[in-house]
Amino acid sequence: MHDAGLNRIGPGDAGARSVAGRNIVPRDRAAGVFAYVALVVVGAVASVALAFTDLPEILRTAGPSFWVIAVMAVVVDARPFNAPGRGPTATVFPSIAFTFALLLGWGLAPAVAVQAAAVVVSSIRLHHAPWRAVFNAGQYALAFAASALVLNLAGVPPVSGPTMSPDTSLGMVGVLAILAAACVWFAVNDALVTTAIWLRFGGSWARALTGGLRQEALSTLSLLALGPLVVAVGNVSAVLVPLILVPLFTVNELARFTEQEQLKSVRDELTGLPNRKALYSEMRAQARAYAERSSRVPGDRRRMALLLLDIDQFRRVNDALGHAVGDQLLGAVADRLRECVGGDGFVARLGGDEFAILAPRLVDPAAAGVLAERVADALAEPITLHGLPLDVTAATGVAIYPDHGTDNTSLLRHAEIAMYDAKDRGATYAVYTPESDHNSPERLELLADLRRALDVARPDEIQLFYQPQIQMASGNVVGVEALLRWHHPKQGVINPEHLIKVAEHTAVMRRLTSRVLEDVIAQLAKWRAQGLVVRASINVSVRDLHRPELVDQLAAILAERAVLPNQVQLEITEGALMADPRRVLVTLHRLDKLGVALSLDDFGTGYSSLQHLRRLPLAEVKIDRSFVLGMATDPDDAAVVGSIIDLARALGLRAVAEGVEDDTTRRMLLRDGCEVAQGWFYARPMPPDALVAWLARYRPPRLSEETELR
Ligand code: C2E
Ligand code: MG
Ligand code: MG
Repeated sequence: MHDAGLNRIGPGDAGARSVAGRNIVPRDRAAGVFAYVALVVVGAVASVALAFTDLPEILRTAGPSFWVIAVMAVVVDARPFNAPGRGPTATVFPSIAFTFALLLGWGLAPAVAVQAAAVVVSSIRLHHAPWRAVFNAGQYALAFAASALVLNLAGVPPVSGPTMSPDTSLGMVGVLAILAAACVWFAVNDALVTTAIWLRFGGSWARALTGGLRQEALSTLSLLALGPLVVAVGNVSAVLVPLILVPLFTVNELARFTEQEQLKSVRDELTGLPNRKALYSEMRAQARAYAERSSRVPGDRRRMALLLLDIDQFRRVNDALGHAVGDQLLGAVADRLRECVGGDGFVARLGGDEFAILAPRLVDPAAAGVLAERVADALAEPITLHGLPLDVTAATGVAIYPDHGTDNTSLLRHAEIAMYDAKDRGATYAVYTPESDHNSPERLELLADLRRALDVARPDEIQLFYQPQIQMASGNVVGVEALLRWHHPKQGVINPEHLIKVAEHTAVMRRLTSRVLEDVIAQLAKWRAQGLVVRASINVSVRDLHRPELVDQLAAILAERAVLPNQVQLEITEGALMADPRRVLVTLHRLDKLGVALSLDDFGTGYSSLQHLRRLPLAEVKIDRSFVLGMATDPDDAAVVGSIIDLARALGLRAVAEGVEDDTTRRMLLRDGCEVAQGWFYARPMPPDALVAWLARYRPPRLSEETELR
């Protein structure tokens, strides 16, 4: 039935879907393919040549039934249809029902000749290259020759034809022989086509053969089975032959209907894009193609990328302008993506405002970023709906195959992680990195270790170091900042910033914060017993403030240790706090009421609005150390520090500088009117006992110098 073979696209050959693509032979495979075509054609000519000597006689004596059947064969192939479930990969050519009838009724030569005519017609209709038409004619000729051989061996002569013996009785043997002939026809045809596909696209011959074998066998054999019926009807009357079109038409329509239904199941109705299911099967096919290619080209830098897009603030459009406009917007976005990606990838809608692009043929991993930027550019122009221009931005996450995963699930998950990373950073796109993955094996292991360290409460693993804070004008120590130190048994000291990032989103964070609060307040009580009264600043994550119990817990620990609330201060980083100040407002006010002061840490790195600075119950701002570290050498940093100090003063807040490493910086800060400083110039963070010893040694810098400087 099918010339399907060469219609079938090889995995990873999306271009083959176009008309031109159907005729493409990869350049490095051309020699093999054309040699094979030549071999098939020569074989076909050799096996049918002898039979053709009878053709003129057959045609001369053929009755009207013969001609009706022949014409039907050619006409039906003008409208081939697709076998359900296989897309354009397996076209069914109904002509074989009639040409097989010709074989049974009139012999090999007329069957081959009429089939060749049908091939010419369908090839013109489907824009096939001449070489393909020649191959298809040859392939059919060989299938018919093999069939004829079976019939001959079984002693079943043509039942119509020149002798015209309508009363020929076939008997059981005859029926079995016809069945065997049909099976042989199918086997030869399928093997020839499979070999052509295999030569053209590579991969495994066995897989090409077995892929879709059931449907192929079903549709081919049922068409061939119509052959004897066509002959029988023709032997009764030529005018009855066209009635065979009725079941053929019905099957055709059913196939079309099934195909449409199947298409619906892989297509998103709103945008017409492939849906999630379609994306998954495309990913699997492309992954297979990739694996096959990379086994041929070791060290191949080419990659496949999965881009996941989420439209920013889509819900607002829906809420403000209604679902109808939201739907139109999604349609417009789909059009832009389709246009922008073109033949370079496969665009799908995953649902809601989520889209995916699979780009299977990137020259190298970096090309994924270029594509992501192209997508962002394509969406940059506002989309006008009902005269209203809507700005659309999207966060894109990129995961690369096979670097970031080799199966659908992990690739999609990693693209999603990258997408959230992009959203968090306000970037248009982000490529997956294990660091952005809160669930990477390294992170999970670190968390497990942290949990264990918190459980056993071994004092030497998790510790707090203390760094003195000095009042600049007097040189007196006014407080200490408690800084977390975790001595991991295998990895050594873990960077606290990294640790917090890993733990912040998990349930362990609560336990870590509790541990820090308990340790620091216990330390304050211990120092007080030794006659040392000092205020401690404790860093908390903004997520800690999302739990209202934090205030009660802090109050309880203070009460238990009989430490006054004004002896502790909480530091919250500006960026995290200002991201959503309203959410923590209640907690901040309750802390303020309790008498615990609040400090805005790493100030200058976030975007505080003056409104919020004024409204939040803050006691101090800590100038981020990046500015302080640079102020002695970089006038811009010095200017930033100067204006933060001015701002703090205007708002009635204490300005604290962290990261004071040298005396020049200290003097500049003093001149600018900074109130408190901490940094290596004074002391590094140290264990509590070392702090006591340091305090005993500490002498404030001489005041006379400062007076000179002023
Ligand atoms: P931070 O709160 O801004 O802490 C100040 C950081 O500056 C500390 O880094 C400190 O060691 C460092 N530092 C102090 N003086 C100097 C100096 O003169 N030069 C330089 N280059 N650095 C100086 P550290 O200890 O690595 O802590 C990093 C961050 O981790 C902290 O930044 C804080 O955000 C977080 N962190 C530390 N301990 C805790 C904790 O117990 N809980 C929470 N939630 N976060 C913590
Ligand atoms: Mg701090
Ligand atoms: Mg800081």
